[in-house]
Amino acid sequence: MNDLLELYQELILDHNRRPRNQAELDRPDRTADGYNPLCGDRVRVEVRLAGGVIDDIRCAGTGCAISTASGSLMSEAVKGKTVDEAHALFDRFRRLVTEEQGEGDSPGLGKLEALAGVRRFPGRVKCATLAWHTLNAALDKHDGEITTE
Ligand code: ZN
Repeated sequence: MNDLLELYQELILDHNRRPRNQAELDRPDRTADGYNPLCGDRVRVEVRLAGGVIDDIRCAGTGCAISTASGSLMSEAVKGKTVDEAHALFDRFRRLVTEEQGEGDSPGLGKLEALAGVRRFPGRVKCATLAWHTLNAALDKHDGEITTE
């Protein structure tokens, strides 16, 4: 039970209850839809770019607490970042939720580290990375829906 409590810690609960960046964007430059069939999570990511920078982002969808909170945290983390920085952040986030890391081996990901506990629940890793995969698809101009499978 301790692990689960850690997984659903306060920050995750807060972002699940009040996900950020839900407002539909006016004329987004990129959009992508993501689907995680293992859990049923769906997410839509809309991005407005300005000179290679993510000027504004919307991440909205339906799904479990982990996917909703992760999408909300992702949208906050990448807003104002360049496309390259967003890709690099995803690489580090993916390592955070999939690899065991030693004590004090903090990747310096700020609020995103709230999701580190997901790595002990392999079935939930796709919930935590869905929004990021969908962001990548939007930035790479991938057409149609992407899935985690
Ligand atoms: Zn899920």
